[in-house]
Amino acid sequence: MSHPRNPRRAYDADGSETPPVTVGQGLADGYRTLMVYCEAHNCGHGAEVPLKDRPPHLPVPDVTSKLRCSQCGGRRIRMMVNVTELYARAHGAGSTGG
Ligand SMILES: [Zn+2]
Repeated sequence: MSHPRNPRRAYDADGSETPPVTVGQGLADGYRTLMVYCEAHNCGHGAEVPLKDRPPHLPVPDVTSKLRCSQCGGRRIRMMVNVTELYARAHGAGSTGG
């Protein structure tokens, strides 16, 4: 028995679908934006997508399914966490210099 898998969902070792993080959870976790990149050939246009503009119940992986590249109109969009925010979180509010 094999069920068709949704490529936008994660599955555990048993093949069970694991619930994706939603926009609301991302915001609660301190994320404000997603970095997205166009995968179209010779484009690679990048943009920041504010999470607060998205429905809170929307799974984060589905945010990109609604997007189109503003540069070429392409719909193959790759999502990454905003590393700038990750660094800010890792280093905390109080900088030790450097
Ligand atoms: Zn593009």
